[in-house]
Amino acid sequence: MIYPWLEPAWAKLLAQRTQLHHALLIHGPAGIGKSAFATELARALLCESPLRDGGACGRCSACGWFEQGNHPDFRLLAPAAADEAREGEGGSGDEPTRKPVGKGAAKPSRDIRIDQVRALERFTEVGGHRGGTKVVLIDPADALNAAAANALLKTLEEPSGATRFVLVSGRPDVLPATVRSRCRSLGLPMPAAEAAVAWLAADAGVDPAQARAWLAAAGGAPLRARRFADPAQAAIHRLIVETLAGIPETGIVQAADALADVEPGMWTATLQTWVIDLQRVCAGAEPRYFPERADRLRVLARRTGPVALDRLAARLDRAARAVGHPLNPRLMIEDALLDVRAALAG
Ligand SMILES: [Zn+2]
Repeated sequence: MIYPWLEPAWAKLLAQRTQLHHALLIHGPAGIGKSAFATELARALLCESPLRDGGACGRCSACGWFEQGNHPDFRLLAPAAADEAREGEGGSGDEPTRKPVGKGAAKPSRDIRIDQVRALERFTEVGGHRGGTKVVLIDPADALNAAAANALLKTLEEPSGATRFVLVSGRPDVLPATVRSRCRSLGLPMPAAEAAVAWLAADAGVDPAQARAWLAAAGGAPLRARRFADPAQAAIHRLIVETLAGIPETGIVQAADALADVEPGMWTATLQTWVIDLQRVCAGAEPRYFPERADRLRVLARRTGPVALDRLAARLDRAARAVGHPLNPRLMIEDALLDVRAALAG
C-alpha cells in the first residue's frame, strides 16, 4: 500500500515507470512507509496488466502470486531476524510486509548474509518464469554485511535480463559507496505534521491531541507513532523516557537495570531524540520530541552546553550504528548512560 503522504512521490515514480533505472535506492526517515512503498513498486513492476497510471492491477495471475508471497520472479532479501529488526529501530523502521526468503541461519541474523546474495545469482541468471521482469527487493539494504554487499556489486552493476533491484534504507549513509553509486536514489519525505495527525487519528481511532503527542514522541514518523497505540509499546516508551529524565540523579546501575529488558534499538533511538531536545532547549528552542518534559529539559540544559552535547550526540550515533551487534548489551547501556551523565556534568 501507499500511505497518503507518499502519493505524490508514487505518482511521479509511476510516470517514469518505463525509464526506471534498474537499481533504485529508496531512502528516508524511519517509520514513514518506505517498505510498503517499495513492496508496492515490486508488485507494480511484476503486474502483467498494469493500470493506466502504471500501478498494479490486483487481478492478474502475477498480482495473485505476489499477494500470496510466491511469485516465481520475485525475491526479498532481508535479515533472518527481519521481523524483530524491522519492528524495532534497527531496520528501515517500517512495518514488516512479508517474510524473507533464503537460508535461515541457526541463530536469526540481523545481517543480510553472503549466502543469501549468492542464492540470488542463479535467480538473476536464468530467464524470468513469466518471460518478463524479475524483481529483487533488499530491505533494509543497510543490513547487508560487508561480504554480502561486495558479492552483490557485480549483479547490481550488470543485472542479466530484466532484473530490477529495489533497495530500501533508513540509513543510506552506512551503505558502502560502491553500492550507493550503482543505484538511482529516491528520497521519500517525512509527512507534513497536519497530514500525519489526520492519518494517525483516523487509523488509531484517537483524538487529534493524542495523535499529536504520539507523533511528537516519534519525531513525526506516523508508523512509529502508531506503535504507541499498543499499550505495551507505550509503556516501554514511558519507561525509557522516565529513566532518561531521571539522570543524573538516578544512579547508572539502577537506570541500566530499568532498561535491561528493552530492545537496544528502542532505547538508543529514544535517547538520541532526548539529546536532540536537550540541544534544542540549550539553544533556546522548544523541545520537538518531548514537549511535555520541557521543564525538566530546561533544568538539565542549564547543567550542560553545546560542546558537551555535540560530543554526546556523536558518541550515541556511533553506539546506534552498532546496535544490531552489541557485544555486551548491558555494557552498552551503562556506557551510554555514563556518557549522558558526563555531558550533564558540564
Ligand atoms: Zn496485475
